[in-house]
Amino acid sequence: MRRMKIYEHYPLKALNTFGIEAQARYFCSLHTLGGLKSVMLWRREHPDLPVLFLGGGSNLLFVEDFPGIVVQVRLAERKVIAEDPHYVYVRAGAGENWHEFVRWTIEQGYAGLENLSLIPGTVGAAPMQNIGAYGVELKDHFYELDALDWRTAELRKFSLDDCAFAYRDSHFKSVEPGRWLIGAVTFRLPKQPVWKTDYAGVSEHLVGKTLDARTISDAIVAIRQSKLPDPKVIGNAGSFFKNPLVAIEKFTAIKAKFPNCPAWPQEEQIKLSAGWLIDQCGWKGKRVGDAGTYDKHALVLVNHGQASGAEIWQLAQAIIASVQEKFAVTLEAEPNVIRTTF
Ligand SMILES: Cc1cc2nc3c(=O)[nH]c(=O)nc-3n(C[C@H](O)[C@H](O)[C@H](O)COP(=O)(O)OP(=O)(O)OC[C@H]3O[C@@H](n4cnc5c(N)ncnc54)[C@H](O)[C@@H]3O)c2cc1C
Repeated sequence: MRRMKIYEHYPLKALNTFGIEAQARYFCSLHTLGGLKSVMLWRREHPDLPVLFLGGGSNLLFVEDFPGIVVQVRLAERKVIAEDPHYVYVRAGAGENWHEFVRWTIEQGYAGLENLSLIPGTVGAAPMQNIGAYGVELKDHFYELDALDWRTAELRKFSLDDCAFAYRDSHFKSVEPGRWLIGAVTFRLPKQPVWKTDYAGVSEHLVGKTLDARTISDAIVAIRQSKLPDPKVIGNAGSFFKNPLVAIEKFTAIKAKFPNCPAWPQEEQIKLSAGWLIDQCGWKGKRVGDAGTYDKHALVLVNHGQASGAEIWQLAQAIIASVQEKFAVTLEAEPNVIRTTF
């Protein structure tokens, strides 16, 4: 077996979409399952070092250097593995680019993932926070995934129930972070698609068009490009805060003071717009050094050039404090914040 190259003090700036200067104490790139055996052998010699699995780095904020090993997951695979009268089952390697995979399913004639077009990152990271956009979440078309236990090298399949998907959350994100390396994900795509075009702004883009997966995907791409900053131009990790869920009594109190507060009922709770709350506190387009909020969308924190992860994180703390003071609502960061001190 060929030993895999493990680099030391590896620069991560080009590998995170915030463009934050940070280093990994150790780093390797995993292209094959054979390589995985080699990393597991290396791991036995360094059992106490923390691990960070890395996809496209579009949902991470490095506040500090990473003291352990960063394993960049680049496993490639795209395959239709089965079908029944109602569904096709499509499997993708964790290292596949998410948007390219979505477009590939559409080219094969399959629908279901079109509303999730242009979300940056990889297939392997997508289940981590149950990616979602324009009324669809990954869990809506998920079938199962293959993962490897970083501690024991056990390979395991996770069903939909095992993954405990919730709003921007999963078993892998909040129950056992850092334990499971996701190697491949299988999706179950319907042969009779049901289009979801009622989300704000989507139907306007589709007026007069015949609906199919490609047309909807193109509309989603156009909408996203008009609203969100391109990380190649300005560093960011998309929405920096989750939309908070509050109890009905709390919402009633907020609504009494702020009648325009947007809100969506969510089972027994109410979901608020984090972007609106932040905007009301005057943060939209604000800049502190090179850390700031995007001028078209207050929910997106941006790196105007040389901001450090600590500066972005300080800005996030200031935003959390002002939303807390004005609305008594606690915002929670959506990206994975990499730091050893809390
Ligand atoms: C402009 C922009 C727009 C965005 N829009 C959306 C959106 O609409 N909806 C949405 O949900 N998200 C959105 N995001 C966030 C991000 O794109 C998604 O969370 C994406 O799934 C992250 O993929 P990644 O490969 O970049 O993950 P990374 O940032 O590399 O990693 C994210 C987390 O997943 C873990 N991880 C990565 N790969 C694996 C693996 N193979 N096995 C186990 N753990 C792994 C990492 O350790 C980390 O904890 C946006 C980001 C940007 C920059």
